[in-house]
This record gives sequence, C-alpha cells and structure tokens, in this order.
Amino acid sequence: MAKVFVITGPSGVGKGTLIRELRDRVPELELSVSATTRAPRPGEADGVDYHFLTPELFAARVGEGAFVEHAEYSGRRYGTLRAELDRRTSGGHPVVLEIEVQGARQVRSAMPEAVQIFIVPPSTDTLRQRLVGRGTDDDEQVAARLEVAVSELAAQDEFDYKVTNADLETAVAELVGIVRRESAASAPR
Ligand code: 5GP
Repeated sequence: MAKVFVITGPSGVGKGTLIRELRDRVPELELSVSATTRAPRPGEADGVDYHFLTPELFAARVGEGAFVEHAEYSGRRYGTLRAELDRRTSGGHPVVLEIEVQGARQVRSAMPEAVQIFIVPPSTDTLRQRLVGRGTDDDEQVAARLEVAVSELAAQDEFDYKVTNADLETAVAELVGIVRRESAASAPR
C-alpha cells in the first residue's frame, strides 16, 4: 500500500515551500493536487497547483461524495478528490497531501494509517510577516488567516509529528527523515 503523508499547519507556515524541497529530495513522492473554489494566484495553473472549480461544481462533487475530505477556509472551499488521491497512490509510491487542520482531522478518521505532520511556525509574528510578505492577500484576508492560524496552532498536539519551520534546511531534513523512515516501515518485506 502506498504510504500517505498529510502535511498540515497554518497558512503562511511554509507548507508549500517545504513540500517542494521535500519532493526535490524524495523524487518518488507524489503530490495530490487539491480542488478549490478560490481564484488562481498569478503563476498558478489549473491541474498543477490546484484543480480550480466553480462553487457550483465543487458543491456538486461534494454531493456525489467525490471528496476524501473537504473544508471551508477563509470563505473558500478546499478538498481532496478521491479520484485524484487514488490515481496518485495507484503507482505504489508515497503520496503527500497539503491541507489545513479540519481536513487533516477528516483524513485521520477516513485513513487512520496516514502519517500526519504538523508544521509549526517559529512564532505568530513570523507567520504574519510571511502572510504579508507573500503579497497575495489584502489586510482583511491576512487578519482572517492569522485568526484561523491561532486556533490551528492549538491543535498541533493531535498530530503524529511536529516539525518547526524556523530554518528551512533543518525542517526539510526532518521531513525527509520522517518520509524515508515511515515509507521503509510500510514497505513489503
Ligand atoms: P491557499 O489559499 O493559501 O492556497 O490555501 C489555504 C489553506 O487551505 C492552506 O492552509 C492549505 O494548506 C489549505 N488547503 C489546500 N488544499 C487543501 C485541501 O485539499 N483540503 C483542505 N482541507 N485544505 C487545503
């Protein structure tokens, strides 16, 4: 069975960058591309960064039971399509999901064997700076994301692993260690 890794934690903590670096070092690691109703940011491509769906289509897919997990975040919907996850796991290689905390909880119920990793920011201030610096959200959205982040941080002890993203190299090395160890533990003998 392909091992599934869930990387969760507050928006702005650097999940995307960490996953990019992790996949550079573990090339067989597949990324499950999420669906969302939010608009693409500059440079984002449909089917690569997200499957961009209209709210109507997203709701229809929810009705069909097409999602493994889905959640509302900052007024937009995000979710993991079962067909996408099945396609990624079918090759037997490990797969990573990048999702927020509510979705990670749903994955825990649906797939208790998935390995859940929570990314911790060095401080809330760093998080604010990263959200502002990213320049993709207005002040109101940054404030909303920070508010969610505080409640998400309170949930960190629920997860199998916690990795602090203070220094990128150190955090990536920790993630590589977890993925290699857990994948080896589940490999057929
Ligand atoms: P962003 O709009 O910054 O790309 O994502 C906002 C939040 O939604 C982030 O915390 C991101 O990890 C999360 N997210 C992305 N894809 C999914 C998904 O498929 N399911 C859930 N539950 N959250 C997701």
